[in-house]
Amino acid sequence: MDMGEPDAGLCGQCRYVKVIASQKGSVFYLCKKSETDGRFEKYPRLPVRVCEGYEREEGV
Ligand code: SF4
Repeated sequence: MDMGEPDAGLCGQCRYVKVIASQKGSVFYLCKKSETDGRFEKYPRLPVRVCEGYEREEGV
């Protein structure tokens, strides 16, 4: 996680996250698990500290 980004907790290093930067400079964390599993919110409330779907992204 770079300095200046919001503290996303687990989402910040999860292989299922897609980070979206808006033109206004905000950063959103989209959980790709939400596309296939209704238990996950598309835009989880950050920081996520506990998550059943979390898998660490390789190489981070
Ligand atoms: S699976 Fe969990 S930790 Fe990973 S992006 Fe979704 S909400 Fe975040």
